[in-house]
This record gives sequence, C-alpha cells and structure tokens, in this order.
Amino acid sequence: MPRFTKLVVASNNLGKLRELGLMLGPLGIEAQPQSVYGVPEAEEPHATFVENALAKARNAAQHTGLPALADDSGILVDALDGEPGVNSARFAGEPKSDERNNRKLIESVRDVADRAAHYYCVIVVVRHALDPKPLIAEGQWHGEIVLEPRGSGGFGYDPYFYLPEVGMTVAELPLQEKNRLSHRALALGALATKLREL
Ligand code: IMP
Repeated sequence: MPRFTKLVVASNNLGKLRELGLMLGPLGIEAQPQSVYGVPEAEEPHATFVENALAKARNAAQHTGLPALADDSGILVDALDGEPGVNSARFAGEPKSDERNNRKLIESVRDVADRAAHYYCVIVVVRHALDPKPLIAEGQWHGEIVLEPRGSGGFGYDPYFYLPEVGMTVAELPLQEKNRLSHRALALGALATKLREL
C-alpha cells in the first residue's frame, strides 16, 4: 500500500484530474489540484519531458509540503529527431494554437516518406520536494502523421495522428477508446502498478 493518502496534482486541467481521480481513488489516494493551495505555475524550461514533469511536481510539493504528481506529454516525429517533442504545445510559437501547430507539423513532414511518430507521456510522483527517488511512469502510443485531417474528436494533433492498426486517426476514435489506448492511459496504468508496489 502507498505510504501516503493524499497528493497534490500539478495541473488544473479538469479532464486530467478526473482521470487521475479514477485511478488513484481505488488505491486510497485523494488527488487535489494545486489551485486549491494557490501554487504558482512552474517554469518548464527543460529539454526532456521527465525534467519538466519533475520541475512541476517539485514546485507543487515545495509549496504545499505534500506529495505531488505531475505529467508532461507531447508528440515526437522520428524524421524530425523527435520534434515537436517538449515544444508540442507551442510548436508554432506564442500564443499557443493547435491550428498553427498542425499547419507547421504538416509542412515539416510534407516531403518526408516515413512519417512515423508517437505520443509520449511521463508522470512523476515525488514524496517531498527533494525526494531523491521519484516514481516515474511512461506511456507511448505509436502511429504516423497524415497530411489531411480526419475526425473531430480529441484535441491538439489528434486529427493528423493516424493509427494504422485501428485504421483511424485519434480524432476519429471514440473518447472511451482513446482513454483506454492513449499514452496517458498507459502511463497511468504503469503508475498504478508502481503505487501498488510501494
Ligand atoms: P500537456 O503535457 O498536457 O501540456 O500537453 C502538451 C502538448 O502535447 C499539448 O498541448 C498537445 O499539443 C500535445 N499533446 C499531448 N497529448 C496529446 C493528445 O492526446 N492529443 C493531441 N495532442 C497531444
């Protein structure tokens, strides 16, 4: 059983908080958004997802004195050496815009033969701000970039992220299916296993 019963989540995204609550509830852990404690948003200046997630979790733990959880995610295109990567939300600059990000992505891969890509999500939990051994769970979801959008579900890059084994883009998948198959779902499942083993 985990040695804590409450943690603060370094996100105010209601969808994420709901998903986390469903996973953590059965483990006897209550999750509260950092806004409840007035935690200021952390900078995310790092070159890797795990460093950015750790920075957010440490910031929340430091401001609350509680264990903290944070995630970071994005899309990586093999032919672009992993770009947009940690810059996925702001690939086309400020202010962040899914439409401009998608346009830039399509232009970047238009002349590329192999458009293999994956979504990646990392979730970290720190027991306290200076925890030397954070829990780290990852999930990856493989697919390829298509040049024409399909579907109206999801968000971000989903209309251009095609799953060959399913024959649909993520934006065409029912939300329940996305929530079962996604990089975030896989990372959450891996985290649940680690929390159970504590
Ligand atoms: P965040 O980690 O939730 O802030 O996500 C970072 C960025 O990665 C988002 O703004 C999207 O551009 C991209 N991204 C992450 N997960 C997904 C997804 O499931 N669908 C589409 N885009 C995603």
